[in-house]
Amino acid sequence: MPTKNKELYTMKITDHIKKANGKTLFSFEIIPPKKGNNIEELYNNIDPLMEFKPPFIDVTTSREEYVYVEKSGLLDRKVTRMRPGTLGICAAIKHKYNVDTVPHVLCGGFTKEETEYLLVDCHYLGIDNVMALRGDAMSHQKYFEPSKNGHQYAGDLVAQISNLNSGKYLHDAIEVNNSTDFCIGVAGYPEKHLEAPSLQTDLKRLKQKVDAGADYVVTQMFFDNKKYFEFVKAAKEMGINVPIIPGIKPLAVKRHLQLLPQVFRIDIPEDLINEVENCKTNKDVRQVGVDFAIQQSKELLAAGVPFLHYYSMGKSDNIHAIAKELF
Ligand code: FAD
Repeated sequence: MPTKNKELYTMKITDHIKKANGKTLFSFEIIPPKKGNNIEELYNNIDPLMEFKPPFIDVTTSREEYVYVEKSGLLDRKVTRMRPGTLGICAAIKHKYNVDTVPHVLCGGFTKEETEYLLVDCHYLGIDNVMALRGDAMSHQKYFEPSKNGHQYAGDLVAQISNLNSGKYLHDAIEVNNSTDFCIGVAGYPEKHLEAPSLQTDLKRLKQKVDAGADYVVTQMFFDNKKYFEFVKAAKEMGINVPIIPGIKPLAVKRHLQLLPQVFRIDIPEDLINEVENCKTNKDVRQVGVDFAIQQSKELLAAGVPFLHYYSMGKSDNIHAIAKELF
């Protein structure tokens, strides 16, 4: 149930769903801006969306990236973190708007100890919802590789967070008299994760994450609602009984027709492809993306999904146009 953290109101995502009593709620995900930018730009994108009263905002995490630079004729590896810290942004947004924020916590690039520090910081800041994700392979890697003493799969990360919720820290020798109370989200893939040999196997992995303590699922973007409905049905049949929140991304540029299937292994419906291909400018594509997402969202809304969760890739005008039609 809701807890008061100083003057801040914090609630679990699952409690927001219970409290809504069947009403579909609006939420969205933001990507921290590239380093060097100012948080005001982020606020300017969030401000218009607060009109639709999102109970929570997700903030993604990007792991470190390697940039190769030449030094004295030799290639010298330089490590650079591209985006400002997710937790700081979550805390800033939470305090500015008094809304729940959900940091994405990754296996990739983090040791178990670093993850524990991060979770302790979340708890301290009154951030009680987290998305537990594996992360992708880095651009120079073929396969995902965990850090030394890091987690291989999101399910292992979920188990670590569940342990903290039971007061079990990594090292018994350090006395801590506080357990956490995280509500844990995980990723689900209506068109299966790109590395999974089959949708059924991927669903078994999802079930393992739920059994390890995940409280809700947010899906990868999809453009064909039938795939989401089938996914939810198959998940239920497998005994996955937590809420499955659909993730929706409005197409915004012509290049998305190639990029999204390539990166996320998702299909784009023929009629949407045709409409985008007929567009003369990216402004026209953006409008097509908005119109399609409105229709897609209306069908999901009619089916009584708990949240409509939008992927906003920086600029929020398209999400605003969609939400205005629905909320
Ligand atoms: P996992 O659940 O670990 O699954 C990864 C693969 O391993 C799957 O193929 C699964 O079937 C398989 N698998 C799982 N457990 C086992 C096991 N025990 N044995 C064998 N195989 C197993 N990425 C980011 O870098 N930052 C973000 O902020 C971010 N946010 C996201 C938000 C959402 C809603 C979604 C859907 C994805 C997000 N991603 C993000 C992308 C995500 O990190 C990638 O899709 C990643 O490749 C898989 O992450 P996962 O948590 O689903 O991994």
